[in-house]
Amino acid sequence: MPSDSAVRIVWIYPDLLSTYGDQGNVLILEQRARRRGIPVETVHVRSADPVPDSGDIYLIGGGEDRPQILAAERLRRDGGLARAIDRGAALLAVCAGYQIMGSTFGGEEGQPVAGIGLLDIESTRGPARAVGELAAEVDTGLGGHILSGFENHMGVTRLGPGVRPLSRTIVGTGNGDGTEGCHAGKIVGTYLHGPALARNHWLADVFLGWVTGPLAPLDDAWHERLRAERLKAVLPA
Ligand code: GLN
Repeated sequence: MPSDSAVRIVWIYPDLLSTYGDQGNVLILEQRARRRGIPVETVHVRSADPVPDSGDIYLIGGGEDRPQILAAERLRRDGGLARAIDRGAALLAVCAGYQIMGSTFGGEEGQPVAGIGLLDIESTRGPARAVGELAAEVDTGLGGHILSGFENHMGVTRLGPGVRPLSRTIVGTGNGDGTEGCHAGKIVGTYLHGPALARNHWLADVFLGWVTGPLAPLDDAWHERLRAERLKAVLPA
C-alpha cells in the first residue's frame, strides 16, 4: 500500500496504449521526484485489472484504433479513473488516450466511438494522417514554454468551452485547427509523443507541483540539450 508521503503514479493500460515511448513519461515523473528526495510509488494497471482511484497522477498513452476502442470501453466500465479525477487527481493523456477522454472519437472506419467524457472535446477522423515533429507555443496558464514532440495520428479534435488549448502550433498539426492539446483543471491532453515529458520536463514539473507544491530546481542540462536539438531541427532559423 502506498505510504501517505509518496507521489502515487498510475500508468493505465500499458498492454493496450503505449506507443513511441509513452512509458517514458512515467520514468521522467519518477526520476524528477526522486532526484528531489520525493518518494514515488508507481502502479502499472493492465487492461484486465481495475484502475485504482487513489492515485495522484494518472498517465495514459497512444495506440492504434482497435486497442484504443477497447481501452475506452474498459475505462468506462471500470470507472476508477473518473472517480480519481473527481477526487482531484491529475491526468496526462497522450494521443489515443487524449481522444478517449472526450465525448467521442473516430474508430478504424471513422465510426463515432464513445469516449469517457472527462474532457470537453470531440475527435473525428481527419482527411490525412498527421505525422512528424511538432513545436507549439504553450498557453500561458501553464508557463511560457515551447512544447516539443512527435505526432502520428488520423484524429482531429475540436475543443469545447470547458477546456483551453494547451498550445498554438508553430510546426505540425495537433488538434487540426492551429491548436495542440488542451487542459482543464489538472488534466492535460496532447497529441505529443516523444515521450512528451522527456521533451518537456517543465510539464513534468507542472504535474509534480500539483501534487507536492513548490519544487526545488534541478540540473536540466540533458533535457535542455534534447529540446535544443529537436527544436533546431524543426523551427525556422
Ligand atoms: N488511433 C488514433 C489516431 O490515429 C491515435 C493514434 C495514436 O495514439 N498515435 O488518431
